[in-house]
Order: sequence, then structure tokens, then C-alpha cells
Amino acid sequence: MKAVMLYGIKDLRIEEVEVPEVGLGEVLVRVRAATTCGTDLKIFKRGYVSGVIQLPTVFGHEWAGEVVEVGEGVSWPKVGMRVRAGNSAPCLKCKMCQKGDYNLCEDMMWLWGAYAEYIKVPPRMVTVNMQEIPSHLSFEEAALTEPLACVLHGIEKAKVGLGDTVAIIGAGPIGLMHLLCAKKLGASKTIVIDLVDERLEIAEKLGADETINAKETDATEKVHRLTDGYGVDIAIEAVGLPQTWEQALRLVRRGGTVLEFGGCPPGTEIRVSTELLHYGQVKVMGVFHAAPLHFKKALNLIASRTIDVRPLITRKLPLEKISEAFEILLTSKKDIKIAIIP
Ligand SMILES: [Zn+2]
Ligand SMILES: [Zn+2]
Repeated sequence: MKAVMLYGIKDLRIEEVEVPEVGLGEVLVRVRAATTCGTDLKIFKRGYVSGVIQLPTVFGHEWAGEVVEVGEGVSWPKVGMRVRAGNSAPCLKCKMCQKGDYNLCEDMMWLWGAYAEYIKVPPRMVTVNMQEIPSHLSFEEAALTEPLACVLHGIEKAKVGLGDTVAIIGAGPIGLMHLLCAKKLGASKTIVIDLVDERLEIAEKLGADETINAKETDATEKVHRLTDGYGVDIAIEAVGLPQTWEQALRLVRRGGTVLEFGGCPPGTEIRVSTELLHYGQVKVMGVFHAAPLHFKKALNLIASRTIDVRPLITRKLPLEKISEAFEILLTSKKDIKIAIIP
């Protein structure tokens, strides 16, 4: 089968490898769509993300496909079933899992290798984080379950609700998914901030009430102007840079919530005013990944089109064009997610 391997910075190669053999409890899936992700792009650009990946490596983690073989002892799923799974499966046994913080599992199982013709799903993941895809739903849409699960986790923690004003920094796929969720939850005003007009236009099409190009406009001042001088109820950072983490702190009203969603480079720090936390009573929270329940919810929301992810898939390319896909994402700002079809 054909599988994409990452050897280093911008060094993706398509290799001919053996189709994995299926053992006890395992499931082999023919990948029908794998979507590009900001994390993949970071790894493509930098060659690593600390602790997560060791080179050379299989690559890609958002996917959906058809079951072609099941190992001994597997009663579900059946061969021919359309499924998605992973990219994580907590152990359900460690201290963190026992506390209900499944996303912080100390023995988390990760699954990479979505940019390939076949992917083998390990037993734990089959049990804990695999779902059947409804027949009306495309594989590309189902592949977006993973990023939406992470966004649902964040937006739940930040408690976005009816009538809230919400500012989102970053109009990439994750920022735009936050926007879609905030709108559905009844946010009264959504403000999206980015540096690229094309991205802000997409945000407007997806229902952003206001957009700000931070290259041209002082975003903090504008957000306060748009909220009668108060700042927003909830500010969400969806970029992953210390500067924008700090910027989010300046957008929020007293008593509001800051959700620092984007993962920053290792070793970075931010400064937070003690007055903001004490007198301003601002809540600042980070959030990492998602729990199995979020994946189930995300797939249901995509399937019912309560969250319509179709506008986020801006291009489809065959597996052979994987390098081109990432080069496009590095240079063109019009593309949000590219569906790779192996
Ligand atoms: Zn992802
Ligand atoms: Zn655990």
C-alpha cells in the first residue's frame, strides 16, 4: 500500500509498504479521506512537535474510511462499516482518567498514519474512540470529528452561552470552528480577529458579526468599542503564540473568561496582571485535546449538520499530491482544510 512518511522539515515521501497485519482485537480500515490539520502543518514546517512524534514517522491523524478486516475477538465494527476513530484513546485506569480528565490520561494512546491507503486501529481505540459514520455523511466531513471534538471541549470549558459576546483570535480552521459553535450556542456578538483579509472574509461568510484585521486596526481598542467599552464575555485564542495569548487577556470584560486554546511553542511563557485576575476576576484557562465523549458529540453534530463543516473543506487532492497540499497551506490563505483522498 502507499503510505506517507515524514523524514524531516518539509520532507514528505510516499512509500510502498506492507498492508498491516491484523491481530487480536484490531481493525483494518481503508482510508477514504484524511484531512490536513494545523498540528500536521506545524510538524511539516518545523519537523517536530516535542514529545509527540519521532522521525521518520507515518503522518496524519484526521481520517475516515471503511472497515476491510477485523481481528479475532472483534464483534464490532463489521467489515464494510464506515467508521472514523482516534486519534487518541485514554486508558480509563490512570489517576487522571479516574478523575474524569480523560484528555490528560497518563497513558494516552495516539494513532498516526492517516495519510495512507490503510490504517490499523489498535484494540483500545476500537473500544474507546471509534464511531460508525451515518450513510449520508461524506468521509471528508467525518474526518473533521477530531478537530471539532477539541473545539467542543474548549467551548464547554469556557461556558459560551446565550447572549454572550465572544472574540476569537485566529481565523484558521480551529478559530472558525469556535465561531460556528459560538453562533449555535447563541452568542449575541462574535468578533473574529486575524491578519489576513481572505480568512476574515470566510469568517464573515460563516456568520461572524464583526471582523478585525489586526494588521490595520488596533484590535483591543476596536473590541472594546464594539462592546460599549467593556470587553467581551469570552475571548478565545486560536493561534498558538504567546503574543496572542496575552492579547486575549486584553479583550475580555471584568469577570469574563479567557480560553487559551492554541498550543504555543515549547518553553514559552506569558505575563498576566495580578490585578486582572483579582480585581478584574478574569478567569484564564488552557485546554488540551478532547475526551472520547467529545468525539461522539462532534460526529453527531457534524452528521446532523448542526455544525456544518462543509465550508471548511476547501480542496480535495489525491495522496500523491500530499506535499503540494502542505505547500498550498503554507502559502495560500484561502485554503482552510484540504481533504487528502488516498
Ligand atoms: Zn487535528
Ligand atoms: Zn488514563
